[in-house]
Amino acid sequence: MDPWLIAIAVLALIATSLLAGRARQSLRGVARAAGVGPGVDPVPAVAELRERAHRLELDLAADRRDHDLLIESLAQGVLVLDVQLRIVAANAAAHGFLGRPPGGLIGETVIGAFLDLRAETVAQTALAQGSAMGEVRIADVDGPALLVRARRSPAGGLWLVLEDVSELRRLQRIRAEFIDNLSHELRTPLTTVSLLAETLSREADAAGPAIPARMRDRIGKIEIETGHLIQMVNELLDLTRIESGGQLVLVDDVGVGRLAHASMERLRLFAERQGVALVARIDEPVPAVRGDVDRLGQVFINLLHNAVKFSPDGGDVTVTVRRDEDRVVASVADHGVGIPHAAQARVFERFYKVDRARVRGEAGGTGLGLAIARHIVEQHGGTIWVKSDEGAGSTFSFALPISAPAG
Ligand code: ADP
Repeated sequence: MDPWLIAIAVLALIATSLLAGRARQSLRGVARAAGVGPGVDPVPAVAELRERAHRLELDLAADRRDHDLLIESLAQGVLVLDVQLRIVAANAAAHGFLGRPPGGLIGETVIGAFLDLRAETVAQTALAQGSAMGEVRIADVDGPALLVRARRSPAGGLWLVLEDVSELRRLQRIRAEFIDNLSHELRTPLTTVSLLAETLSREADAAGPAIPARMRDRIGKIEIETGHLIQMVNELLDLTRIESGGQLVLVDDVGVGRLAHASMERLRLFAERQGVALVARIDEPVPAVRGDVDRLGQVFINLLHNAVKFSPDGGDVTVTVRRDEDRVVASVADHGVGIPHAAQARVFERFYKVDRARVRGEAGGTGLGLAIARHIVEQHGGTIWVKSDEGAGSTFSFALPISAPAG
């Protein structure tokens, strides 16, 4: 045999065994990294690892398919945006809401997709603050009303969830119109009945012993109950107006201290009748807040009315107004029945009443007064809250931002 051929064959053999050794060594490295002990043959161990990795990949792909299917079948629209606020993924509902054929949203900007600046504002706010929410009406007045919830995704972009609230808004409009019509219809006859009861009551008083005490008492009750009905109708009207009337025009510079005094005057007679003393603790001068003086007066009246209503005979109600940094804080405190802890979060809901049997004497209210107060305070950019201990009394407070000095 040619000695050259023999030399080449030997060299090839050496090279192969060297490569095989290195490969085995690197396999050993892989196996060690995966926790395979030093005495174990790395070849089958690595093959098994590869098998495991493959199974995991399959599981992952199945999970992803499930996840995509779930998002695709949601009734809510889902959009995934990158950091430049371009749409990188969108489900079928999102395409439907935004009137696009399947896939037609991919690569679009928020403005391009919604044709509405509010959607862009919601997205930008969420990008800056982590999350945001807003309502957008698509294309024209007949397009769907969409509630857009935006949240920053861990990847740095955004997730947008769209909910069609057109039907909800339509029902709310119908409810508001219904209550508005009904209240107007009720108010006229009720006012007449109330005036007649008042006259009757005055005439019964003037007639003295000619009218039996029991009859006078009943006339008095008719007067009180009619007053309640009128109050209920007025509160229902107020609430629907506040809820559907959009933004208030906040033009008055309101002196909250003066307003507190005026509201206390309006309720003094009612408080005297209930045997409750009204006490004012008002820091003067308190800076003005920008607002609607009549509406803010209504907040005081509602809080004072409750405080007196839930106070014992001989009790007192204290109204405090003070400045707290850039806010004016007003409180109405009583030493009445108090509110159980569990109910405190709910008292600002409309129609919520803690316990219908707690009001002494006359019948209770509508459960609307605090809902109205909360709406008004929030429309002024403020907050309202309650602190209460059952049996010891309640303090309702609200804070309003101080208006910036003119000029
Ligand atoms: P209402 O017309 O029934 O007073 P509100 O919305 O003003 O309706 O109040 C809701 C409920 O909260 C009341 O029915 C009452 O149970 C509770 N509440 C409100 N203010 C007080 C208070 N000062 N003390 C105790 N309970 C109160």
